[in-house]
Amino acid sequence: MPPDAEEKTRNAPGSAASLRVANQRRVLSLLLRQGNEPASQADIARETGLAPGTVSTIVRELAAANVVSTVAGSGRRGTSVRLARGAGLVAGVDFGHSHVAVAIAEMSGEVLSEQRRQLSPGHGHDEGLGRAREMLEELLGELGAEVSDLRNIGMGLPAPLSDSVVMSSAILPGWVGVNARDEASAALGAKVLIENDANLGALAEHRHGHGKGHANVVFVKVSSGVGAGLILDNKLFRGTSGTSGEIGHLTLDDQGPLCRCGSRGCLEAYASTGTALAMMGDQMPGARVDAIIEAAQQGNVSALRVFEDAGLHLGWGLATVTNLLNPDVILVGGDMAHAGELLLESARLGLRRHVLAGTASTPVLVAALGDRASMIGALVLAIDATDLLAA
Ligand SMILES: [Zn+2]
Repeated sequence: MPPDAEEKTRNAPGSAASLRVANQRRVLSLLLRQGNEPASQADIARETGLAPGTVSTIVRELAAANVVSTVAGSGRRGTSVRLARGAGLVAGVDFGHSHVAVAIAEMSGEVLSEQRRQLSPGHGHDEGLGRAREMLEELLGELGAEVSDLRNIGMGLPAPLSDSVVMSSAILPGWVGVNARDEASAALGAKVLIENDANLGALAEHRHGHGKGHANVVFVKVSSGVGAGLILDNKLFRGTSGTSGEIGHLTLDDQGPLCRCGSRGCLEAYASTGTALAMMGDQMPGARVDAIIEAAQQGNVSALRVFEDAGLHLGWGLATVTNLLNPDVILVGGDMAHAGELLLESARLGLRRHVLAGTASTPVLVAALGDRASMIGALVLAIDATDLLAA
């Protein structure tokens, strides 16, 4: 019998072997959802509907393969179980306008090491991927691991993506037209999954940040561009080809300032870091956004006005999003979110002015994961795409 046929017979639906695999899968997917929080064997039995004896057999087998680790508990809690290093590793890569961040994590989501480096703003995709490869090898080397130990790599790009191809982008001009999945998989030597950075921020906040426990979460990244990631009914909403959430180009004023997309009066033309820098250009030439935030915190009235205006326009955009989607919570990340309440107070005001009365109290908060949101989201993407029972 050829090996394929043998495999098919062994795992035929309804056979004892296929039932065992299906039960293992249920236990493993529960542990994946648990992330860093260990589950007791009693929890696992209750959540999966499996008999306690079946659970303890599965846990014993998985522990022998070093896929899970167990800690003997006391009293009613019993033995607690979590995913172990033997379940494999994943990497997350986050590209920005002028940086790349790389992290290595266990399947539990626990980050083992991470690194962030500057990139030149107009970098080509091959230069960016080469840098990411160096960082990946360095981080893996420190852990005594190799690229072949990686189950998957998740990668975020600050650009609209259509089936992993980078659409027009002023933020990443050196990547336009590139099939990022194919190029990155070849450059990094492992399977790479690509996602827009705001979508990854939403995934990360939903799993580990202020979106945890909410079914409908809007994450807005306000940096050199403005984009949103949408979690609807606990799932990332990508749209038909993956370009959902491009709220930076909501029209707020048909006669407003020109936007780099060619339209006028887009949200991004009022609320991006580029606009803040341009507005403060005379007073603080060459300053970075954090310096303008500091000036505002020290009472510089022009700097205060920059964040107030940006926040107000952001709030108008968020009002449209709220009228359309009625989210549980809106989380704001990206460089402009470093301004905290200086930005959010007026964003809440802008939102209140234009939403239906019933949704005026939709919480608008600074995202919990800060500059690491997209990188953590890339890890979530990689973990969720991994089949722990695949060889
Ligand atoms: Zn635009």
